[in-house]
Amino acid sequence: MLMYQSTRGKEKAVSATQAIIKGIAGDSGLYVPTHFPKLPKLPEEYCQYSYPELAREILALYLTDFTAEEINGCVEKAYGQQFDTPEIVPVVKAGSYYFLELFHGPTYAFKDMALQILPELMKVAAKKQGIDKEILILTATSGDTGKAAMEGFADVSGTKIVVFYPKNGVSFIQEQQMRSQAGRNVEVIGIEGNFDDAQTGVKTLFQDADFTQQLADQGYLASSANSINIGRLVPQVVYYIYAYVQLLKKGELKSGEKLDVVVPTGNFGNILAAYYARKMGLPLGVLLAASNENKVIADFFETGIYDKNREMYLTQSPSMDILVSSNLERLLYEAADSQAVNQYMQALHSQGKYQLADQQKQKIHDFYGLSAGQSECHQVIRDFYEQENYLMDTHTAVAAAVARKANCLKNKTLIVSTASPYKFSGAVLEALGEKAETENFELPLKLQQKTKTQLPQGIAELSAKPLRFAKVIKKTEMKQAVLQFLQK
Ligand SMILES: *Cc1c(COP(=O)(O)O)cnc(C)c1O
Repeated sequence: MLMYQSTRGKEKAVSATQAIIKGIAGDSGLYVPTHFPKLPKLPEEYCQYSYPELAREILALYLTDFTAEEINGCVEKAYGQQFDTPEIVPVVKAGSYYFLELFHGPTYAFKDMALQILPELMKVAAKKQGIDKEILILTATSGDTGKAAMEGFADVSGTKIVVFYPKNGVSFIQEQQMRSQAGRNVEVIGIEGNFDDAQTGVKTLFQDADFTQQLADQGYLASSANSINIGRLVPQVVYYIYAYVQLLKKGELKSGEKLDVVVPTGNFGNILAAYYARKMGLPLGVLLAASNENKVIADFFETGIYDKNREMYLTQSPSMDILVSSNLERLLYEAADSQAVNQYMQALHSQGKYQLADQQKQKIHDFYGLSAGQSECHQVIRDFYEQENYLMDTHTAVAAAVARKANCLKNKTLIVSTASPYKFSGAVLEALGEKAETENFELPLKLQQKTKTQLPQGIAELSAKPLRFAKVIKKTEMKQAVLQFLQK
């Protein structure tokens, strides 16, 4: 049986169901598998698999206390008609790169890949654990997670969800998507602050014994839908394997040939899933983390120093406007031991920075980081549109801009495409040479007219949806806001 242990090492290992329910370990560490399962087949043997078939096989390796039937049920609900393409995650060749499009789900960003399945996994896990409490999901979002989590949890029996987002730190479409969310069990609240304030606020709630006791008294068990939950990370491993298999099938890769991967990075969940896939034996080469102007991660891989003591910029890739990248802790654990992880996290807490020892840095030497600014991103969007007839969003552009100038890439290169360009219509239009305008509902239509690309239905229909939520609070008022919502 595969178990999950805390990166901080002060807790006994737990089963997959326990790790999914708890979200974060009791010692504040993150759960990591005690070992990495090996791929049971060669990638070419998966050529005939559909995405759900592959997902079943891979999830079974990680969720060893789930029955095959339980996994089937979850996968079937998660990866079906709610995606606007039967391939679920198409791989598109443009120029010399392959783009892995992870934005064909209901909210048009890659968060759907994990958040369509997480509620199903949680429901099964709660049942297996005999939990009679309602599950209360508390989530901080930089724009995409919140919407995707609510879309997954809306009206799921036995659950409620509260989403906190930085009031001035998300795109117009992202905010409209969240504020118009349907469902009896959802709450959306703007925070006067940035994403890190929201994320720190949520983490503080989880550590507040008085608060969790109050929740328990009212019949709730708090959990997280943020990418610290292992139930989000594991489903993300699947699409890297699927992408590799697709490229084999199309004859773009030879059996065993290495594939480099460039990932637009924020909380470090997506690229960590690529690392897990490589650990399982998938022939991935260099893993390159692409940062926007908030280049904490890029600096970390360059210097070995993680330093969050800097100004946070609001960029046109808001889902990557993050200074505290939670999932990096899981990579630290791979490079060091739990004692060192504790020291680093302690230092991050007290001084806002830490420095990796040389021999630890050596252990993750095939990880690279590089950043790209707004003008480089605009240029790459424009070049790919004009020269390759390929339209990408502002997050994917960070990865593409980084890939173009990187000198660490040695193999064919997969760029992970994380959002539909229509989610960020204003910035994409600006990149294509249109005058910058404040975001409004006209811009997606304008982008559609200009590029003759497919406007996603859910974005076309957004302007007709009533706004259900308007609350904005200070970051010190989060606890009160949650308790108030539960009174309703
Ligand atoms: C969340 C997000 C990212 C960052 O992904 P991480 O797993 O947090 O590194 C990049 N692009 C988009 C569009 C996102 O929503």
